[in-house]
Amino acid sequence: MLTLTPQDAALDCRADGWQDALDQAAASLHQAGLVEPAYRDALHAREAQGSTYLGSGIAIPHGTPESRSQIHHTGVRLLQFPQGVEWHDGNRVYLLVTIAASSDEHLDVLRQLTHVLDAEGVAERLAAADSAEEMIALLSRPRPKARLDADTLCLNFPARDRFELALAAAARLRQAECVDASFVAAINTQEPVALGQGLWLVSADCGVKQPALSLATPERAFSGPRGPVNGVFCVAALDDAHRDLLARLADLLDSGQGEALVDADADGVLMRLSGESSSAQTARVTLLNAHGLHARPAKLLVQTAREQALPVRVRLLEGSAESVSAASLTKVIGLGARRGQTLIFSAEGEGAETALAAMVAAVESGLGEAVRPLAEAAAAGASRAARREVEAPLEPLEDDGVLPATAASPGLAIAPAYVMRAPDFDYPERARDLAADKQGPAERQRERLQAALDEARRQLQALIGTAKGGDVAEILSMHAEMLDDPELHEAAFEGMRDGLSAEAAWWQAIDTAARAQEVLADRLLAERAADLRDVGRRVLGVLCGVELPTPPQRPYILVTDDIGPSDVARLDTAQVRGLLTARGGATSHSAILARALGIPAVVGAGERALTLNNDDDLILDGDLGRVIVRPSAERRDRAELRLKELERLRREAHGARFEEGRTADGKRIEVAANLGNTAHAADAVEQGAEGVGLLRTEFIFMAHPEAPDLETQIGEYRRAFDALDGRPLVARTLDVGGDKPLPYWPVPAEDNPFLGLRGLRLALTRPEVLETQLRALLTAAGERPLRIMFPMVKDVDEYRQARAIVDRLQAEIGAGDVQVGVMIEIPSAALLAPSLAAEVDFFSIGTNDLTQYTLAIDRGHATLSAQADGLHPAVLRLIQMTVDAAHAEGKWVGVCGELGSDAAAVPVLVGLGVDELSVSVRQVPMVKARLRGITQESAQHHARTALAQATSQAVRDALEAL
Ligand code: PEP
Ligand code: MG
Repeated sequence: MLTLTPQDAALDCRADGWQDALDQAAASLHQAGLVEPAYRDALHAREAQGSTYLGSGIAIPHGTPESRSQIHHTGVRLLQFPQGVEWHDGNRVYLLVTIAASSDEHLDVLRQLTHVLDAEGVAERLAAADSAEEMIALLSRPRPKARLDADTLCLNFPARDRFELALAAAARLRQAECVDASFVAAINTQEPVALGQGLWLVSADCGVKQPALSLATPERAFSGPRGPVNGVFCVAALDDAHRDLLARLADLLDSGQGEALVDADADGVLMRLSGESSSAQTARVTLLNAHGLHARPAKLLVQTAREQALPVRVRLLEGSAESVSAASLTKVIGLGARRGQTLIFSAEGEGAETALAAMVAAVESGLGEAVRPLAEAAAAGASRAARREVEAPLEPLEDDGVLPATAASPGLAIAPAYVMRAPDFDYPERARDLAADKQGPAERQRERLQAALDEARRQLQALIGTAKGGDVAEILSMHAEMLDDPELHEAAFEGMRDGLSAEAAWWQAIDTAARAQEVLADRLLAERAADLRDVGRRVLGVLCGVELPTPPQRPYILVTDDIGPSDVARLDTAQVRGLLTARGGATSHSAILARALGIPAVVGAGERALTLNNDDDLILDGDLGRVIVRPSAERRDRAELRLKELERLRREAHGARFEEGRTADGKRIEVAANLGNTAHAADAVEQGAEGVGLLRTEFIFMAHPEAPDLETQIGEYRRAFDALDGRPLVARTLDVGGDKPLPYWPVPAEDNPFLGLRGLRLALTRPEVLETQLRALLTAAGERPLRIMFPMVKDVDEYRQARAIVDRLQAEIGAGDVQVGVMIEIPSAALLAPSLAAEVDFFSIGTNDLTQYTLAIDRGHATLSAQADGLHPAVLRLIQMTVDAAHAEGKWVGVCGELGSDAAAVPVLVGLGVDELSVSVRQVPMVKARLRGITQESAQHHARTALAQATSQAVRDALEAL
């Protein structure tokens, strides 16, 4: 294994161009006795084959395989070029990691370097490093430290016993993204261990992304059956990274300070766990040095600490809460402090104040470097808009210009834009700056908050008055009630007594209460958490003088960066005519919801969409996936006519919704509905659905805090069969994992859960759950037509395992009209469709996932998912193979992905031979109308045209031209 040592490094090199730098690298390898002089030519020859630039200002020149005979020993030399060298591929190189490797040992070095490539600002720090040790420290993988900071603490949690506290602590670690759901589930099954002094401990090592320690304390200390409860620590263990923290916890208990934790605020807890003495004084300061606390400024900081009469310690506000001696250079560099982070100095005894002031002054003066203050906005979390100022300005959209994007929900909308931007709140954390007031600072902050609460109440009452009843008014009234919650007020006042500003104290109270709701894994309460934050932002807006976005009380097209499903569900459908987002794709869950609500939507339009202004007129075309910005009068008139025509078609389609799905020349294509909730089955029938083509049964599992039992499931499925009144029901068995997590079915952490344990694969790990579901389906169906289909099947082997369970249960229960099929949503299943077709009764193509896996684009990817278009010719070919294989065996094929309701795709799918389309309920009448408008011949022409193209855009263009 190759390791980097200070002897391998040459600092402060200079070169006249990249060839000269390569020559120096070769000479350095030669001088170290590693290679013959001729190795120089090998370095040049390898570079001629392709650049060895790796990223982050690092290139890794090495010889060709033929030059291995010129190597005496395997080794590495590091050459630092502080001024940078223009590399032949246009990159700027600050560090050459030159490798002489007689076999594949250089891969070790590469592995070591990969983590550097992800880190920010490495090139600058490599260029600025002024010791070999510092450079090697930058290149070496840092030993992970357990995280402990304000975000991993859950203080004053309204818990009734230590188990709830343990769960709250685990949930806090999950919110801080240190662990995943499997960790929380593991903690849920644990009995906390007593540490003494009313403190308890739980720990787990599964689902840990980052080692961390959390502490949850109760609102008031209480006594349980096994003794007093002052707090529960929760350890996310990874290797031994948490050991130091546990050692500090043991010290704290040894010194008898455990009980004090229950009343401590976040600063107090962190201070006690950092190893600082409880009687120490502290002072904090923001680090402004561009490259953080690298060797040069660290040296000056250490010097200043050594000049003080008392020992000074230092720690970072964010991170592991470990305080180290400020007089130790290696310890100070080891903190890894970056620009913008907060250093907390502590000292104890007489003169502590003077020592701390000297340390703060030294940092503020830049520690020997010229420093630039942080922009105000950056300090408080820079807004997207502020960040954009330093990037290239976005080109404004032209009048009557076309903004292309992805069609996500069909329909046409003409209305002014309402651009919803998340507000930025900029406020000081502490109220110290107001200490000069005659009143105490806490009293002054309290008055500010009271005034802001009054104003927020007034705003809400005015809004309730204009909302004229309905859901919106109800939500606003609930918000008004939340404002009067005395517990929220008390929590905020307590923060102010601890020196926080009114803004910080209020937000802390809101956030704590919201997180407490979220922990309870109940969907309704989790929604209440979102409401709490909404109310919190309203008050914060008043305090900071920032106006909150309030949707207008007139029709509008909502323009926003991205929108979550809960936001879509809360849209006031009476006013929202359309939806335009900068990010997201057609199969994202918010797009699926927009379709369910019947709101035309165009998504993934890019950042330029956000350059639109409120009241800009827009024409949004949810079929073609484009928006016309500030249209000309003629274009607007044409669009108005089209809208009228579309409305007429919609009315006609609705009138004919109970007709069978058929093409104009009589080819029968069943049109069924996709459902997530069995309560909507009656609505599906009312919209003309000829059955349910996809029941996403996982939603039933998600709606319960644990797996629904047999009786509950039978009740659910029976409700759907009853509403369908003899029409078929295609029930997909439980499809969880990947993008559909189930809180009470944790899966081990996986690097890539989308390619991991999910769908049928996951279900087969607990066949008893699958068996209960199948039993419930067969029992509920009785003699009614039941189609069972398995999700995420990759080949016939998995299918056989699942089918065996169905066969066994059917023999036992004796249900009548049952077919068993698979979803085709993994490319391997499409490619192997002939072998599957021989054994299944039907296929249903899940184009959402089939597209994702064929194009290697995550369907929920913020920016790329717009390109995950099911009309891609590669996906269409897989559909063609699937249909051909099924028909060769006399089996039927449906499409249940979102492509089935895409107006451009319907004739293509029919032309490819698909027998059934299962679409969201509201699309049923229009899909039937679309079928009536085509013939088999025209559909086949559409299919041939589409298959002949090379890209999805070409497919869409060619289809539009037909
Ligand atoms: C699909 O993948 O196309 C599908 C219908 O399933 P889901 O969207 O639920 O993953
Ligand atoms: Mg799927």
